[in-house]
Amino acid sequence: MLGFGSWSPASQICVRMLSFSRDQVPDEDFISDVLSASVARRSVDGECPIAVRHMGVRLVHGESDGLPGVVVDCYDGWCVAQFASAGAERWRPTICSALMGLGAKGVFNRSDVDSRKREGLPIDGTIGVLAGDEPPEFIEIHEGAIRYMVDVRKGHKTGFYLDQRDARAQVGAFAAGREVLNCFSYTGGFGLACAAGGAKSVENLDISESALDMAKRNFDLLFAGNKVPPYTVDYCCADVFKQLRLYRDKGRQFDLIVLDPPKFADTKAQLMRAARGYKDINLLAMKLLRPGGMLATFSCSGAMSVEFFDTVCREAACDAQRDFQIVARTRQAPDHPVALSFPEGAYLKGLVLRECGMKR
Ligand code: SAH
Repeated sequence: MLGFGSWSPASQICVRMLSFSRDQVPDEDFISDVLSASVARRSVDGECPIAVRHMGVRLVHGESDGLPGVVVDCYDGWCVAQFASAGAERWRPTICSALMGLGAKGVFNRSDVDSRKREGLPIDGTIGVLAGDEPPEFIEIHEGAIRYMVDVRKGHKTGFYLDQRDARAQVGAFAAGREVLNCFSYTGGFGLACAAGGAKSVENLDISESALDMAKRNFDLLFAGNKVPPYTVDYCCADVFKQLRLYRDKGRQFDLIVLDPPKFADTKAQLMRAARGYKDINLLAMKLLRPGGMLATFSCSGAMSVEFFDTVCREAACDAQRDFQIVARTRQAPDHPVALSFPEGAYLKGLVLRECGMKR
C-alpha cells in the first residue's frame, strides 16, 4: 500500500495523493494540520500572515503545499479560496473552519476556474461567502511602498496576481528615467512598480476596461503623496497584438516594455500555437525598443519550459535583428513554492532582457 489520495473518476488525474503512509488516514484533523503548517510557513517574524495588516499572500499553493487542488490567498486577513478538484471540494468545510480558527476575517469562494469542468464539478454558483463576514468591495494590500486595491469578487483568479510580486520589484529596479509600456497591465502591477522605481512615464495597456479602472485607482494611491507626480501615466484599452502593430507603424518607441500575458497554453497540445503567440508579441516589442531598452517578458503557461521560452525569445530577437543580454531571470514568488516531487508546479517564468546593439 502506497498511502491515501482523493479519487476523482471524472478527471484525467484520477488520484491525487494526500498522504504517503498507511498510518496517516486523511481525516479532518489531518487536513487541518496540513493547512495550519502551510499557513505557518508564511509567518512573518513569528506572526501569523492572516494577522499581518495589509498583507497579500498565498497561504496554500495546492499540490506543493500538500493540498492538491486547493488554493487559498489572503488579503489583509480575508481569505479567498479555490477548490479545483473533486478531492479539494470534499474538504471545503474543514478548510474553511481551519482558516477561521487561524483568525481569518472571512472565507470567500472563487472556485470559478475552468479546470473544475475537467473534474466534472459545476462552475456556476460557486462565488460567495463560505464562512465569516462579507469582504469589503475593495481590499487594500501593500507590496513594499505600493498600495493595491483588490476586488475579490470580480478580479481575476482570487483578485490579484500575487505570483508576480518579486518580478514586479525586480523590473521596477530597472525603470529609473525610462519610458515604460506596461502590456497586459491588469490593475497596474508592473507599471506601479516602475513608477515607484523612478520611471519617466508609464503607459498601461490592457483589453479590460475594468482592470484599467482599478489601475487608475491604484495609481491614484501612488499619486496621493505627491500633488504633481514625477511621472506621466496613460491608460490604453486595446488588444496588445493590435496595439503593438499600430505603434510599430507609427514609429513609437519605449525604453522598457513589459509583456505579462495570460496563459496561452493550458496543455502540451496547445504549446506550438502558444509559442507563435509569444514570439509574435516579443518580436513586436523588441522592435519598439530604443537602443539600450529593456524587455521584461513572462510566460505563465506551465506547459512551456524555461528552455523553450528562452528559445522563443531568442528566435524573436533574431527576426527583430536586435541583440539582447539576459540581465535577470524571474520566477513565481516564494509563497507559490514548487514541491521537488512536483516539477509541474513551476509554471511562471520571466526574462529581463537588455538591448545591447552589438555591431557584428
Ligand atoms: N501584470 C499583471 C497581471 C497580468 S494578467 C500584474 O502584475 O498584476 C493578464 C492581463 O492581460 C489581464 O488583465 C487581461 O485582461 C489582459 N489581456 C488578455 N488578453 C489581452 C489582449 N489580447 N490584449 C490586451 N490585454 C489582454
